[in-house]
Amino acid sequence: MKITLIMPSVGRKPNRSYVKTWQMEPLALAVLAGLTPEEAEIVFYDDRFEEIDFNEGTDLVAINVETYTARRAYQIAAQFRERGVPVILGGYHPTLVPEEAILYADAVMVGEAEGVWRDVLADVKSGTLKRVYRSTDRPSLAGIKPNRKIYEGKRYMPLALMEWGRGCKFSCDFCSITSFYKATYNYRPVNEVAAEIESLKKRVVFFVDDNIGAFPAATKQLFRELVPLKIRWVGQISINLSEDREMLELMVKSGCQGVLIGLESLHESNLTQMNKYWSNRTRDYERAVARFRDYGLVIYGTFVFGYDHDGKDSFELALDFALRQKLFFAAFNHLVPFPGTPLYRSLLEQGRLMDEKWWLNPEYRFGDVVFHPRRMAAQELAETCLAYRRKFYSYSYILNRGLDFRANSKDLFHAATFFAQNLLAKKEVEHRQGLPLGNGNLADCGR
Ligand code: SF4
Repeated sequence: MKITLIMPSVGRKPNRSYVKTWQMEPLALAVLAGLTPEEAEIVFYDDRFEEIDFNEGTDLVAINVETYTARRAYQIAAQFRERGVPVILGGYHPTLVPEEAILYADAVMVGEAEGVWRDVLADVKSGTLKRVYRSTDRPSLAGIKPNRKIYEGKRYMPLALMEWGRGCKFSCDFCSITSFYKATYNYRPVNEVAAEIESLKKRVVFFVDDNIGAFPAATKQLFRELVPLKIRWVGQISINLSEDREMLELMVKSGCQGVLIGLESLHESNLTQMNKYWSNRTRDYERAVARFRDYGLVIYGTFVFGYDHDGKDSFELALDFALRQKLFFAAFNHLVPFPGTPLYRSLLEQGRLMDEKWWLNPEYRFGDVVFHPRRMAAQELAETCLAYRRKFYSYSYILNRGLDFRANSKDLFHAATFFAQNLLAKKEVEHRQGLPLGNGNLADCGR
């Protein structure tokens, strides 16, 4: 049996290469390849930087779909289906809106692949592929072995993506991750994670876990296992862990270089509205971020704008904070109503969504705001986000943040990394803005 795995791109600007920082290893597909019996032949196309051969014979095409890649994924699916090849879609987007995804495929996988992938393959073999494969319970993550051979010959960012846990115990209203996992968390045995890292050639690791500190006792056990491996790693963690000195010490000992923290807003009323009540002490944000930096950890702080208490003043507050705290990176994102989230449902009920299926709209461009904010016009919100990204990544502010000898430039290696990465991020602000969804030269997906 031959299986073709595909990682779709978001879209492409004419005559431009793909956004460089989005070219990370597609770990979810390596996990799927690892679940596939060895006797099956696997072909993998990464649509972000290579041509797909639609005429190559195969028994099944499996596409990993996120909301931003849905339009392109449906276009790819259409090409294969025209040639009589069955297509199955899986991932966040088909799980959150299976009734939409099934319109563009022969089958959808709802939930985590571990529970159903072998059934899919057996049904392909017997010619009895079903329309929906639903993983109802959370499967055990023990024994997972991503098959990274699918990356061979492809050029990804020089970071090994690793997964320890999946999900998050919190319920921020905008978050599709926690909607996918229904606010539950599951993690792999720490010794298996350590063994997998040891087997990798790359010594810089990005833990893709959405909140690696969700269960502090287990997290500490993981970090203890990492200490002898002498790797450098980055990950994503929630701000409340700044209070836990043992956690911070273990992070440093295990090779942590920095963390992404979803700060979201400096207005407590916004944090309450988004259900991030546990983080609702913005007055402590300064102290919390400073504490991570005291340990030499660099911070990627993400802000989101467009909640009901956001006006132009919110941007200035965030920028001041980001400069004062010398954030390594900062995101000035507008709120995005991803389908299947409480935020999406609420904006829909209030009649504030401009397009219920904005991700399929051929006119949509990356950076557009698709709902009516309360205190700003949609266009103004989009433009202000862009303006503040440009400000944050201006040469003078890059220099200002780079002159930070606690974290960003604590040694030559960090200083070099800081300036190289910030100059790249500056370039990519423009590259990402206005990116279309999907690829115009393929058959459209029905809209
Ligand atoms: S803490 Fe992060 S991962 Fe968890 S629900 Fe909130 S946004 Fe999602």
